[in-house]
Amino acid sequence: MPSSFAEARVDLGAISENTAALARRAAGAQVMGVVKADGYGHGMLPAARAMLAGGATWLGTAIIEEALELRGAGITAPLVSWIVPPGAPLAAALAADIDLGLSDPPLIDAVAAAARETGRTARVHLKADTGLNRGGVTAEKWPAAVAAAARAEADGLLRVVGVFSHFACADEPGHPSIAAQTAAFHEALEVAAKAGLRPEVRHLANSAATLTLPETHFDLVRPGIASYGISPIPGLTGTGLRPAMTLRARIALVKRVPAGSGVSYGHRYTTDRTTNLALVPLGYGDGIPRAATNTGPVLVAGRRRTIAGTVCMDQFMVDIGDDTAEGHPDAVLFGPGGDGEPTAQDWADALGTIPYEIVTRISPRVPRVYV
Ligand code: PLP
Repeated sequence: MPSSFAEARVDLGAISENTAALARRAAGAQVMGVVKADGYGHGMLPAARAMLAGGATWLGTAIIEEALELRGAGITAPLVSWIVPPGAPLAAALAADIDLGLSDPPLIDAVAAAARETGRTARVHLKADTGLNRGGVTAEKWPAAVAAAARAEADGLLRVVGVFSHFACADEPGHPSIAAQTAAFHEALEVAAKAGLRPEVRHLANSAATLTLPETHFDLVRPGIASYGISPIPGLTGTGLRPAMTLRARIALVKRVPAGSGVSYGHRYTTDRTTNLALVPLGYGDGIPRAATNTGPVLVAGRRRTIAGTVCMDQFMVDIGDDTAEGHPDAVLFGPGGDGEPTAQDWADALGTIPYEIVTRISPRVPRVYV
């Protein structure tokens, strides 16, 4: 391990191969690799390059600043950013040829104004709210939004490159909202077509839909979590996905303590026998949730165990009984799971969350090592 204390090892080949597998699933549609939030914690730029190598032809980010960073690093693929709050750097986005996902009718006018000022034609993707009730233009305001976009397009200020939406429950197979949202998306497309819009890409599918709902692939799919090798639907088989991140830490210390020893802050764990405690130098400052106190799984000294006591800012303890760390210098918190280590899904299950949160929250203090 190149770092003295820990590393998040990222297998870029896995990201490329996962992307290629998703592209095969969505044959006929293009793939947008979603690299927001530092590539779900894997490193935005290396993840972006790996996805492009695997066949993605678009990249998606949440905010414009992320897309500007990609452009600044020389990425030339089409980029879409879909959270555009008031005050967002519209002129910089237009200058960098970044497509904007627009969810709010007044924003269409703001983007048109920025286009007029900069002398550029803005490339936009109109987002329809088909039932997630998060971003997107509601069905009620959709006709006015597409009309405004069509006017700005006629004035040469913007080009509606895409129309898109996002699912609420695609990770729950059979959920009635899936069919309802798909139907609402078809309606939104029809309204847009009647207003004269001819988007090049219509897109709806996230990872779950890319894997399980071929009728939602349209022209472009937008997988995020699956590109990193994590199934959006726990237990889904036959995906061929390979988790890309392995989080490991060097065991800093092993000490022998008597039975009845309270361990870590608050003494929330007490040894029931004379035992060895291993100190793992990762804590909530590194993105290990403090909620993993007495619950987080970890492979130490060749066996899967549970964190003993409170997760601190920089460290936690593991009770390893009479084992020692000899021959096993590292603790593995999660990885692909093939060598007995827990997976990010195991962590999510132990903590009542989703694996997205587990990988995304690993902090910048933990060096990313690319293999
Ligand atoms: N598309 C949009 C608009 C998103 O916000 C996200 C992520 O939340 C994705 C696609 C990718 O979703 P997933 O990681 O579930 O594939």
